[in-house]
Amino acid sequence: MNVLVINAGSSSLKFQLLDVDTREVYAKGNCERIGIDGSFVGYESIASGGKRRLEVALPDHKTAVQHAFDIVKETGKDFVGIGHRVVQGGWYFPESKVVTEESLGWVREVAPLAPLHNYAEADVIETCRELFPEIGNVVVADTSFHYNIPERAHRYALPRDVVDRLHIRKYGAHGTSHRYIWRAAKEFLDDDVHKLVSCHLGSGASLCAITDGRDMDTTMGLTPLDGLIMGTRCGTIDPATVCYLQREGGYSVDEVDTMMNKQSGLLAVSAISSDTRDIEEAATRGDERAAMAIEMFAYRTAQLVCGMAQANEGVDTIAFSAGIGENSPTMRAEVARKLAWLGVRIDDEKNALRVDEVREISAPDSAIRVLVVPTNEEYMIALDVAELLG
Ligand code: ADP
Repeated sequence: MNVLVINAGSSSLKFQLLDVDTREVYAKGNCERIGIDGSFVGYESIASGGKRRLEVALPDHKTAVQHAFDIVKETGKDFVGIGHRVVQGGWYFPESKVVTEESLGWVREVAPLAPLHNYAEADVIETCRELFPEIGNVVVADTSFHYNIPERAHRYALPRDVVDRLHIRKYGAHGTSHRYIWRAAKEFLDDDVHKLVSCHLGSGASLCAITDGRDMDTTMGLTPLDGLIMGTRCGTIDPATVCYLQREGGYSVDEVDTMMNKQSGLLAVSAISSDTRDIEEAATRGDERAAMAIEMFAYRTAQLVCGMAQANEGVDTIAFSAGIGENSPTMRAEVARKLAWLGVRIDDEKNALRVDEVREISAPDSAIRVLVVPTNEEYMIALDVAELLG
């Protein structure tokens, strides 16, 4: 059963056509720099004979969708539906839902919580419905998995009337990835996993506590700014810092927003790059700020692993995933070293291996199992579409 998955960002649109049963990918690509000069579509399909790059004007998301559809059409494969990754599902999507006029309205209604993403995603869904009225669409929100975490974990200790009126709570993000990581770990371990701490460590990073498939807590909050320090995001800081920056620093609301989201994190600490590859290389050359960026990232990841273990009231498995989690043996080793007091031991040889599949990297005497799980959000989205529309 084939499904088209679309992941629209503020200025990009990724797409992938895949077979849910065999996991074969027939086409995938990314429309980049939508609405900006120098736009192009990079793609690869069973019809393209390798990687291709189309230098085309992408004035809006609608044009990008049309290009994506043209590329998909070349494969000659039909599909049963389209799955849309939506960043913020708010209180309307505790699970994935088929798109109707009403549910499309919900994506827009909750958009103030993720304005850079939800409006573009809603426009893309609308375009797909216009262009292909006979094909069903499904919303797969990144927040869904976290919606039913216990109230003690999602409630903010702010006045109840304020919290209720503005729908303030922990929504989290990367839910589709954490859901996939749970599923993949369970499959790999023949069901022998009960208390998992899932670490999605990419340029955006979050951890999630999962007990027997139930989400118990996660590290991102109302928005994806909370929790771990990330490529360019500051993660958790004293909330009073925001007021202080405005009162004493003279920064406007928008300037603080930009600072915390785009100019902070690993980029700010290392003063080199937001990319851990550059930072690791600089640290190897003896750059102290780069070394501190790695130290902070590993320290806070380890600290948050402990927080998530508390949410689970235990931990039998830790899974590393996403760009850093899957590709940086250095960072995995640093985090594991910091958790050695808990009995975490990794096997250096297994940790150094570079293979794109689920694998265990813990040493035989480790008290907690450690896995590397390449995430696959597209597959998880496609599974939801197949279930709802297949
Ligand atoms: P996102 O989807 O949030 O943009 P990814 O999960 O693709 O992020 O992760 C991207 C990040 O992964 C890069 O910014 C980089 O920091 C890190 N990364 C990728 N490959 C490596 C590697 N070989 N070594 C260390 N870090 C890596």
